[in-house]
Formats: sequence, C-alpha cells, structure tokens
Amino acid sequence: MNLFMPRIEISLSQIQENTQFLADFHMGKGVSLMGVTKAVLGEPSVAKAMIQGGVKFIADSRIENILRMKNAGISIPFVLLRTPLSQAESIVENVDISLNTEMETLKKLSYHAKTQNKTHQVIIMVELGDLREGVLLSDLPQFIRETLSLSHITITGIGCNLACYGGIIPDDKNMQELSELVDSLEREFQMNLEIISGGNSANYEWFKSCQNVGRINNIRLGESILLGCETVSRKAIPGLHTGAFQLVAEVIESKKKPSLPFGEIGQDAFGNTPSFQDIGIHRRIIIALGKQDATPTSLHFDNKLKLLGSSSDHIIMDSKCDSIKVGDEVRASLDYGGLLSTMTSPFIRKHFTNCNGYAAI
Ligand SMILES: *Cc1c(COP(=O)(O)O)cnc(C)c1O
Repeated sequence: MNLFMPRIEISLSQIQENTQFLADFHMGKGVSLMGVTKAVLGEPSVAKAMIQGGVKFIADSRIENILRMKNAGISIPFVLLRTPLSQAESIVENVDISLNTEMETLKKLSYHAKTQNKTHQVIIMVELGDLREGVLLSDLPQFIRETLSLSHITITGIGCNLACYGGIIPDDKNMQELSELVDSLEREFQMNLEIISGGNSANYEWFKSCQNVGRINNIRLGESILLGCETVSRKAIPGLHTGAFQLVAEVIESKKKPSLPFGEIGQDAFGNTPSFQDIGIHRRIIIALGKQDATPTSLHFDNKLKLLGSSSDHIIMDSKCDSIKVGDEVRASLDYGGLLSTMTSPFIRKHFTNCNGYAAI
C-alpha cells in the first residue's frame, strides 16, 4: 500500500507508554499530570493515549482544540492554559478550569458564569521570574482578595510557568517559593488550594532530584510526553520514546548537479542574498516539503542528508546516498517547533501507528 506523503506517523502506543512512565514517576511523589495537547492541535487520538497513560486533566492553550476533543467524545476535566478576554463566554461554557492573571478577564468569566448558572474554576498563575504569564508577588494578595469577591469564580489552585520566555530553570529555590506562597495564601485567606501546578516539561530535572516537592501536586506536560525529552537542555528522558512522531516526505528530484548556482546572484525567494560553497558535482535531492510546512532546521533527517536550503515548498539536500530516487520516502524526526508546525500544516496527513485498540480518528 502506498501511503500518502507528506505524512506524520504518530505512534499512539509510544505516547501512551511515555505518559504512563511519567504518570508513575510523578505519582510516586504525589504529583498528578495534566497532558498538554496544544502541539498536536488537540488531536483526539493523542489525548486518548494520554488519558490511557494516566493524566488526570487535558490542558490546551486553544479553545478550538478543546472543542475538537470534546466533540470527539473525550470527557475528562479540560484546562485552558491561555485565557483571552474575548473568549470568556465560550471558556465558561466549554472549559472546566482556566489559568488566569488578569482581573478584567476574571470579572468577565464570573459574569458569564453567572449568566450560565455555573461556577468557573481558575488557577491563578504567579510570576516567579520567567516573565511570561503571572501575577507579580507584590500584587498577589490584593489579586486573590479581589478574585475571592467574584461571585461565580472559584480559585481551584495556584500555578507557575518557567523556562518558556526567560529560560528560567525550575529549581529548589523557585519551587520552594511557590510552596511557601501557597501556605501563606491559605493562612491569610483561610482557603484551601486544591491544585498547585508547578510547571511543565522543564521541571523534570528538579523533580527527579528533589527530596521534597513541598506543596506542588501537579505538573503540566506536553513535550516530554510527546517527544520524550525534558526542555531545559533538551535531553532525552531515560525510559521514554523519543520517536513517537516521524515525518515522512517524498523525493521529487534526485540529480547530480554542481554545488554552485550559475548566473548572476540576486535575492532568493525570501529576500536573502545567498552564498555557496563549491564542493563540486554532487547528488542533490529535493523533497516535497518547505517552509510553509516547517522551518527546515526543525526537521532532523537521516545523517546521509544535509540541508542545503529551502523555499516555501521545496527542501534541497545534499545526499551522500547515490541510490536515492524520485518517489522514495525520506524520514525526519522532529523537535518541538517541527512538531508544532507539521501538525499545523494542512498539507501533511496524520497517520496513526501502533494504535493498540485506540480508534484512530
Ligand atoms: C505549553 C504549556 C505547557 C506545556 O509545556 P511543555 O514544555 O510542552 O511541557 C505547560 N503550561 C503552560 C502554561 C503552557 O502554555
């Protein structure tokens, strides 16, 4: 059978095994997992594999992805990682818990929750140095006080997010700070914070080495489940599969050609003036994939292939293999950026392998 190209092969059993491994690893210290599906656009089969692997929540940054999973019949608490003011009504309607940092948004969520005769649960994100989302510690008591005054909002938890913008590494110091903060908020406001969500795939090394997780009882994992690596130094996590996603693309030209373009050099398709190294006549292949699908450096091909350049829909490579011919398949593994963009490309078909009884959608 000829399978469609380009395609992304997704091993659901490897995703399930990765999830199971991480769920067991974290549960050993009393920490539950949220499985983060944004990199796969809320692909329902992937969410199911995560749920079978033991996540207690599914989290995504886009409401469209959450709707896609709900429409596919997935029922588990859904968490929205990013909360736009303009989507408040739909968030209250479709999401169980949202992460929040802005009073205006919380007010609107409360308003819609009241209209819909519901209580909306929120996790308040605090700023611990990475400078992405988070309420500054100095503003936090007032922020909590105001949130508690909203009639249709329940503060379900506190969270933080590191290693995303500022590259700040989760460590004993900032994690302990989060735990102490939880203790002091509970004391000050006589409240019980149920979910203390300490971070993402970047928390792995801290978590592995820490003796005491403190109050942290939840972690939100995307990349480590999907690609099997932590995200501070992008090292593979022992015991996890790193090849659950494989990109397969088609060779559309394979010829021996000179390595130096001939004629006068102006700009390439993207406005750059290219320069070239003369390595003589060599085998060059073109694959039917381009910048419109992914940044080519985020795709890691077999080491017989060396990236020479790319345009919107062609990737040109130096091939050390002479037998490679038109119509052949070439395979690439993906980094996080590659996963994001290839999963987003409408031109790349998703193909599920090792389904193990999952209904692949
Ligand atoms: C994307 C995201 C995550 C998951 O991050 P990974 O590095 O993929 O584990 C966790 N929390 C928030 C708020 C996110 O936006």
